[in-house]
Amino acid sequence: MKADPATQLRLLDVQAIDSSLDRLAARRRNLPEHAEIDKLDAQLAALNDDLVRVSTQLRDLGRSQQKLETEVDLVRSRAARDRERLDSGRITNARELENLQAEIASLARRQGVLEDELLELMETAEGLEARAGVIRADQERVDAERATSVASRDAALAEIDNEVAARRAEREAIAPALPADLVALYERLRASSAGVGAARLVRRRCEGCHLELSGGDLREVAAAPVDAVVRCEECRRILVRTAESGL
Ligand SMILES: [Zn+2]
Repeated sequence: MKADPATQLRLLDVQAIDSSLDRLAARRRNLPEHAEIDKLDAQLAALNDDLVRVSTQLRDLGRSQQKLETEVDLVRSRAARDRERLDSGRITNARELENLQAEIASLARRQGVLEDELLELMETAEGLEARAGVIRADQERVDAERATSVASRDAALAEIDNEVAARRAEREAIAPALPADLVALYERLRASSAGVGAARLVRRRCEGCHLELSGGDLREVAAAPVDAVVRCEECRRILVRTAESGL
């Protein structure tokens, strides 16, 4: 393959731009905000699970409380009815009176037990309400942190996008003028050689693989016509000769 020295140097410019674009793509992938947002999303999901659990417990408690209150009402009205009968003086049979008094006493005990249970439920509910309040405050805090991370990520992405657009414009000003076969070879090598298809020969060293050329290889490169596209014997990349090649 042939390409005049100036064209080969322009290929190095394209390589520099492509390496910049690769670094920008890596920066975009590895923005610390991505991991930060993932972490905050996981925290929000866990907080939401907590809140659902606490809310379910509160709903269950509410139902139990309603049931207990209904029962207390029944016991109260039954006791009121009994007391009314007792106070009416209509019951004169001693045995019947005794039974009625016993029932009133038993209802009072029952009411006490139910009211204790009710109190316990209300205390538990209070604790759960407090817990729900803490969870909601945590959610607000994490939401705010996430919004900050998203804004920071978006700003970084916008900056990267601008850089990418600038590098692409630079590339567009050079690459289309290069010979198609040279660019095709370069692209193929770039794909198979960690993004570097063309490298400078600097002080007898290939800047692609960083190995020094052997004396024989160096003599061959020096002897090749200036418009020959030479390749590194080690890494097979396009090796571009410059004034600092040490030939
Ligand atoms: Zn090499």
